[in-house]
Amino acid sequence: MKNNILEVKHLFVDYSVSKQKTDYVLRDLSLNIVEHEFLGLVGESGSGKSTLANTIAGFLEPVEGEIFFRRNSLQNLSFKEKIKTTNAGIQMVFQDPYDSFDPIMTIGEQLEEPLIIQDKLNKQNRKNKVFEMLHNIGLVEEYANRYPRQLSGGQLQRVAIGSALITEPDLLLADEPVSSLDVSVQAQVLDLLQDLRKKIGFACLFISHDLSVIQFLCDRIAVLNQGTIVEVGKVDEIFDNPQNPYTRQLIEDSEFLSI
Ligand code: ADP
Ligand code: MG
Repeated sequence: MKNNILEVKHLFVDYSVSKQKTDYVLRDLSLNIVEHEFLGLVGESGSGKSTLANTIAGFLEPVEGEIFFRRNSLQNLSFKEKIKTTNAGIQMVFQDPYDSFDPIMTIGEQLEEPLIIQDKLNKQNRKNKVFEMLHNIGLVEEYANRYPRQLSGGQLQRVAIGSALITEPDLLLADEPVSSLDVSVQAQVLDLLQDLRKKIGFACLFISHDLSVIQFLCDRIAVLNQGTIVEVGKVDEIFDNPQNPYTRQLIEDSEFLSI
């Protein structure tokens, strides 16, 4: 039996401050991710996927419910205490890679930044780790001196993934990391995630509105509909025998799209 790396219990989240809310953006949402597991979160646009990732990352405070990371509750902690508890153990990758980067920092500097914050390695070891990661993400060493605008979207998303994983976090929150990329480039980025998963070993909440992407990469799927998880299960079981009508509709739609 593997340990839970993340446990979300009865989470309610909303953006409005009104006290008499009945329709929350996330409603009574519970899920768990075990060590090294990839959980795919699927749901149509506006269902609350990013809201969930941002709440786990600590950017949003839940109205109710609790989030446990490595069995420690993240509730009622200041942002500083939260960072200390997660100790860079949770990292995030966003949909648009251009959002993740400072345009005036080189790729090498951006990859090194999380290591400087983590403060475990000396300068030489950090440099070595940056070059090792560049190699892992399929970029030659001279890319360390380039600026974000000198890279393609796909290359930059590979750097964003490398930068998120360079401190070897336990959990990666990947919010639609391939949705802004061309289909041919999407495959490269998904292959990279598979590859790094084998090399480094980490758990992942992988968010997508595209079921085929989740089928390729994930162990289990959680289906989100209007802020509530309506079905969770192993990828094959959900595809072979979906229980919820909304899940069936999503599968039908995705089959229709791939014809
Ligand atoms: P998804 O990522 O699944 O597309 P989101 O989590 O972005 O969905 O959004 C869920 C709901 O919350 C939507 O109705 C959206 O309009 C609303 N929402 C998202 N971000 C904000 C925000 N910053 N302020 C107010 N409402 C928001
Ligand atoms: Mg989103």
